[in-house]
Amino acid sequence: MGKGQKSLTLTESLHNSLTQCWERNEVKLSKKYGVSTFTGYAQHLIEKGLEDDLLETRFEIVNRFENEIRVRDYFLAKDAIVQLNVEGPYGTVFCALDKTGRCPHVGFVLSDSDVLKIVKERGISLRRSPKSIPLEEAAEIFERFVGKKQELSDKEFIDKATSNTDCDQAQAKEMLRMLYSDYRIVITQERAGTYYFRKATS
Ligand SMILES: [Zn+2]
Repeated sequence: MGKGQKSLTLTESLHNSLTQCWERNEVKLSKKYGVSTFTGYAQHLIEKGLEDDLLETRFEIVNRFENEIRVRDYFLAKDAIVQLNVEGPYGTVFCALDKTGRCPHVGFVLSDSDVLKIVKERGISLRRSPKSIPLEEAAEIFERFVGKKQELSDKEFIDKATSNTDCDQAQAKEMLRMLYSDYRIVITQERAGTYYFRKATS
């Protein structure tokens, strides 16, 4: 075994099924997944499953203090400290990891009803211009509202956006427009009815 590699034990029957599947469809699978070996194929299957699981359970609040919330990001394998009520040029909700108040960690923290309550009690304004929301963040917000397993009409999206954030109707509509122009939603073949974001390639 090479450096930086670890082994994983599979049952004989699973290993046999995998091997047979690979041997029977090598040409097709190589092309489909961009892999050239059996090990590459098996690794790809695990990576793909892992990615789905990580995206579904990407964030977790692991610690909450009066002015600081520690968010574990399982996708980045890092913790992000989100600070509330910070003075200075970064505004009032600030992620120390990304050095911004506009990242997915801040978005996640603000989707927590307890945190949102504190923020509102302290009079921290969350209003922001949708024009200045980076697309990645807009996609995060959209993903949070829409979820991965349901479909929303434009009206439902706007209702959710306006009831869950300080966005007004016009801002929610603008966000929707941005999302439609730069992201498209694709339905994966493996799981019909599950929606994923993919950045539009054309
Ligand atoms: Zn962050």
